[in-house]
Parts: sequence; structure tokens; C-alpha cells
Amino acid sequence: MGDDPASRVYVNNKKKACEAVGFMSEEYALPEHTSQEELLNLVNTLNKRDDINGILVQLPLPKHLDDKAVIEAIDPKKDVDAFHAVNVGKIMLGEYDFLPCTPAGVMEMLHSYNIEVSGKNCVVIGRSNIVGKPMAMLLLHENGTVTICHSRTRNLAEACAQADILVAAVGIPKFVKAHMVKEGAVVIDVGMDRDENGKLCGDVDFENVKDKCSFITPVPGGVGPMTIATLMKNTLKAAKLQNNVK
Ligand code: NAP
Repeated sequence: MGDDPASRVYVNNKKKACEAVGFMSEEYALPEHTSQEELLNLVNTLNKRDDINGILVQLPLPKHLDDKAVIEAIDPKKDVDAFHAVNVGKIMLGEYDFLPCTPAGVMEMLHSYNIEVSGKNCVVIGRSNIVGKPMAMLLLHENGTVTICHSRTRNLAEACAQADILVAAVGIPKFVKAHMVKEGAVVIDVGMDRDENGKLCGDVDFENVKDKCSFITPVPGGVGPMTIATLMKNTLKAAKLQNNVK
């Protein structure tokens, strides 16, 4: 909705990924002034279509719209972002169909590098519903000892410096400095920020932090592509669930 430049980039990347894996995708680029009712009508139409298995509403929505109501209107079986309350609840219980794309992409990355979570000190900076909170939950499900930091956290640098696995999802360019990182830590940078020159960067001061870490994800090229890959995985799963295919 509207003409948010970051949303445009994200939507284009998702469309490209659909093409690459052979999914049909439809984009509804609605003007900024679209009403709540018009948007809900579109979601309902897509809910009813058998040839649509996944629905994603690119956030943020313009201020006059209620994003919560729009997310809740999506059929949970087609909620490939896993933002619907039904899916969020299932994740809490550890019995889910879909995981939110960014945290699940991070877990996939940890698994593929054989990075053990069990028993580790995991610190997540950020507590948003789409990244921080589910990220903490997934680390907990794998037996990490999890601390969630946010804007009211006291002694944040000290908490971060205890982390074996540090996940930054703050939205502030180069927020995580070298003194906040333990020697040998695994550092996952979820941030997609712009530096003082308008260049894409992460929440971690990569150049000054990288030599202290055992693993660190770059921005761009780290978590972002994993998020999109997970979206494709969720969509395939949704199609299978809706068609009773194992
Ligand atoms: P968000 O909703 O703005 O949440 C940011 C979180 O950071 C909040 O919990 C906030 O705390 C905390 N925070 C802000 N300033 C802080 C400070 N000075 N000290 C400690 N904590 C602070 O952002 P989001 O949607 O989670 O996204 C976070 C970042 O990830 C952004 O850069 C976004 O672009 C990026 N992102 C990337 C992907 C990807 O695929 N790579 C996907 C989604 C998001 P309070 O709760 O106390 O306000």
C-alpha cells in the first residue's frame, strides 16, 4: 500500500523469488488512500480463492489503516508470514504450521552452520511482534537461555557482552559496537538500515565487530535472503496443507 520505497524493494524481491521457484504470484499495489473496507474486501476475496495458497500484506500500512485488523482477516491457513494471532499462539505452544520468516530464517542459518543453541546464552535486542519476540521464542524452543533487550533495558551493553549468540533487531544503524560483543560470539544482524550516506547497513557495526566473532552475518546478504527463502518454504507448506499433500 502506498509508495514506501523499502516496501517496493521487499515486494519486488519476493516476486522474483516466486518466479525463481515456480510459484504464481499476484501483486495488488493499492494507492495510499485505499479504505480499510476496500483492503479487507480484497483479503476476503483472496481467502476464498482456491488458486491462492498464501497471502502476505506488506507492512507498514498507511496510518489510517488498522494493520492488526487486516492481519486478522487473513485466513490463518494462508498466513505465510505467520503474523495471525492463531499462528502466533501456535508458535508459543511449539505446535505450528508456519514460523515467521525472519526468525525462522535465522534458525535455519544456525542449523546449517551446526551452531548449537542448547544451553547457550542468547540475547535478542528488540521485542517486535514480527522479529524480536518470535526470535526469542524459537531460541527458547531449542533450549537457549534467552534474554530480550529493548529500549528500556538497563545495562544493555553488559547484557549483550554475555551473549554466546547475539541477535540484533533494533532498526538503528551500527547500534551494536565491539565492546558489546563477547569474544567468539555468534552475531546475527537482522537490521536493514541506512547509514549516514544512505547506504544499506545493519544494526551491527560490522567492520569493528567482525574480528571478535566466530560467525557474523553481513547486511546485505545475510538474514534478508533467508527471510525470503522461508517465505517460499511457508508458501509451499500452505499449498500442501490446503491440498492434503504430504
Ligand atoms: P521495530 O518494530 O521498530 O522494533 C525495534 C525494537 O528495537 C523495539 O523492540 C525497540 O524497543 C528496540 N529498540 C529501539 N531502540 C532501542 C535502543 N536504543 N536500545 C534497545 N532497544 C531498542 O523493528 P522490527 O520490525 O523488529 O525491525 C528491526 C530491524 O530489522 C529493522 O532494521 C528492520 O528493517 C529489520 N528487519 C529486517 C528483516 C529482514 O528480513 N532482514 C525483516 C524484518 C525487519 P521498544 O520495544 O522498547 O520500543
